[in-house]
Amino acid sequence: MIDTLTPLTENQRAIQNMARDFARSELAPHAGRWDREERGDPAITARLGALGFLGMMLPESVGGLNLDTLSYLLALEEIAAADASTAVTMSVHNSLPTRMLLNFGSPAQQQAYLPRMATGELLGAFALSEPEAGSDASALRTQAVRDGDFWVLNGTKAWVTNGNCADVILAMARTDTADARRGSRGISAFIITPDLPGFRVGKKEQKMGLRASPTVQLAFDGMRVPADRLLGAEGLGFVYAMQSLEAGRLGIAAQAVGIARAAVEATIAYTRERQQFGKPLTAFQAVEFKLADMATRLHGARAMLHATAAAKDRGEPAGAHAAMCKLMASEAAMWITTQAIQLFGGYGYVTDYPVERLFRDAKITEIYEGTSEIQRIVIGRALASA
Ligand SMILES: Cc1cc2nc3c(=O)[nH]c(=O)nc-3n(C[C@H](O)[C@H](O)[C@H](O)COP(=O)(O)OP(=O)(O)OC[C@H]3O[C@@H](n4cnc5c(N)ncnc54)[C@H](O)[C@@H]3O)c2cc1C
Repeated sequence: MIDTLTPLTENQRAIQNMARDFARSELAPHAGRWDREERGDPAITARLGALGFLGMMLPESVGGLNLDTLSYLLALEEIAAADASTAVTMSVHNSLPTRMLLNFGSPAQQQAYLPRMATGELLGAFALSEPEAGSDASALRTQAVRDGDFWVLNGTKAWVTNGNCADVILAMARTDTADARRGSRGISAFIITPDLPGFRVGKKEQKMGLRASPTVQLAFDGMRVPADRLLGAEGLGFVYAMQSLEAGRLGIAAQAVGIARAAVEATIAYTRERQQFGKPLTAFQAVEFKLADMATRLHGARAMLHATAAAKDRGEPAGAHAAMCKLMASEAAMWITTQAIQLFGGYGYVTDYPVERLFRDAKITEIYEGTSEIQRIVIGRALASA
């Protein structure tokens, strides 16, 4: 086990152990099959909820565990090391819809959703991206028009994780008008539930990795949303989404660390066992050097993540550091899983061992919640304006 060097409190260690036990017994044995069948077990969401993993940082007043960021990231790493698809469900739910409701929702909105989101009775999703608006999300086109006590939404959301099984979706739509566009300040956030007339689940994506996590398009066809489902102030939805994505980046970094750790551990075990030229592979220095580089990148990514989590919990802004964590961890995960396949040789290329799944799962961490290029833009801008 390649464990963290970060000093942990008794409580953090207990959370880590609970997540590790759950991941090893209830996720790891099934992750390969879920990947092949392109669907997870819906009962896992209920288990995540029962264990408190879906309300980890929510206050106790709405049924959460009120834990610190590091506890959350430790749990996420354990889940991701066993099954990255389950980890993204946990990350999106905790970082995006629940955080947006907590930080910007009215007391009535919070009470209506958060207690049941904390237990997993309601699963959350986040719908910002559109077919034509990804990295430049402020160019989104879904339009909301006020009609009495309703907003009427028309448009298509793309790439919505859990969009076909979520109960509460935080969706961004334009509330400015065609003759007075206001850019990112013309976007508002809405609380969407699948029972609304005009809500439709569209195409389900066939993916390279993260195959047990459903990613779908959502169509809003004249969808009538009660006016009290507007989150916070009109025109600030994009700001809310961007602020929440900052926390989300730490979650994706933890997911990447988990995938990378699983790859390092599997590779160490394999290269100790596998014999060529009459010796275990670890007897060859070229192999040892590769293992050393893999473990070093893993420790570096994780140490930066934990330091940033601690700073965030002290109340310091995580901004550029959160972007650095995601950039470093996701690129480490991609590099490490690539080396893992190389060290497994042909056995790394087939499905008998988990490293090919880890390789496929690692790739998405360089893309979603802001690509590596976008993280570099965020970091570069912070440096230029400091
Ligand atoms: C499995 C999966 C799950 C997802 N889940 C969600 C979700 O739950 N909710 C949600 O809202 N979205 C979700 N997304 C969408 C994801 O966040 C976007 O795919 C991502 O932001 C990139 O947008 P894009 O795919 O449109 O790529 P584009 O923005 O078209 O980018 C294409 C390439 O151009 C580069 N590029 C773009 N602009 C610049 C620039 N200014 N400078 C340099 N390079 C640039 C990008 O880095 C990238 O390499 C998900 C995506 C996937 C694949």
